Amino acid sequence: IVQFKDVHKSFGDTKVLKGIDLDIFPAEKVAVIGPSGSGKTTIIRMLMTLEEPTSGDIIVDGQNLWKMEKDGKEVKANEKHLREIRGDIGMVFQHFNLFPHMTILENCMTAPIHVKKEDKNTARERSIEMLDKVGLGDKLDSYPNQLSGGQKQRVAMARALVMRPKVMLFDEVTSALDPELVGEVLEVIRDIAKEGEMAMILVTHEMDFALDVADKVLFLDEGVIAEQGSASEVIEHSDNERLTSFLHRFR
Ligand code: ATP
Repeated sequence: IVQFKDVHKSFGDTKVLKGIDLDIFPAEKVAVIGPSGSGKTTIIRMLMTLEEPTSGDIIVDGQNLWKMEKDGKEVKANEKHLREIRGDIGMVFQHFNLFPHMTILENCMTAPIHVKKEDKNTARERSIEMLDKVGLGDKLDSYPNQLSGGQKQRVAMARALVMRPKVMLFDEVTSALDPELVGEVLEVIRDIAKEGEMAMILVTHEMDFALDVADKVLFLDEGVIAEQGSASEVIEHSDNERLTSFLHRFR
């Protein structure tokens, strides 16, 4: 469902990604781990179409993200092309980015109504269903500032799920939370993962969580995928020295 083909990314003279090849299957759960500055967020931002690769191809559900065909020629993707692909991708960030002046139900209903042009009742029903799923069915009319950080993060997940994405991106979604709130958010992600149908890419520093949820773990180091394999292979049984010393800091 997601492919990276020899993707490079530089910011000025700084080479951040140095040839990423990646193949993620529908319903696959992939954890991305690695030291600060290794390029994890850059990978996520590219999939969100917030950054364009310097070279290489990113393909989502068979569509090249940054290139399209016009009159038989390959040209740079336009905004309409990007928007269509973006519709398949859901995302949850470290900071929740909820609309403060809307109730949590309204926060969830906005995108289906305005982006997908769903009718209001369908959007409402589905939003309630998703808010139920993340354990917030009793908070529909609350405003974001009445919720804890963990609850806000769960709203952000419901809001992404409402759009029925084929791929969900989670970028360090627990790292801005108080430690006692981390568990409830990971629990919800676990539940979503178990349901199975979506591919998920999770940038995380929670190694036990990655072991539990991920089908595949990528260790990103200095802009390359230095190690990849099953969660157990990478997190428990690798003899890659840089990976082992990285993991030492978390376990
Ligand atoms: P962290 O775990 O700290 O979030 P990361 O692995 O997610 O790190 P990235 O955020 O992808 O790392 O950043 C990789 C490198 O790219 C960093 O050195 C960062 O300074 C640089 N970088 C990222 N975005 C930009 C930008 N817009 N302009 C210049 N440099 C950038």
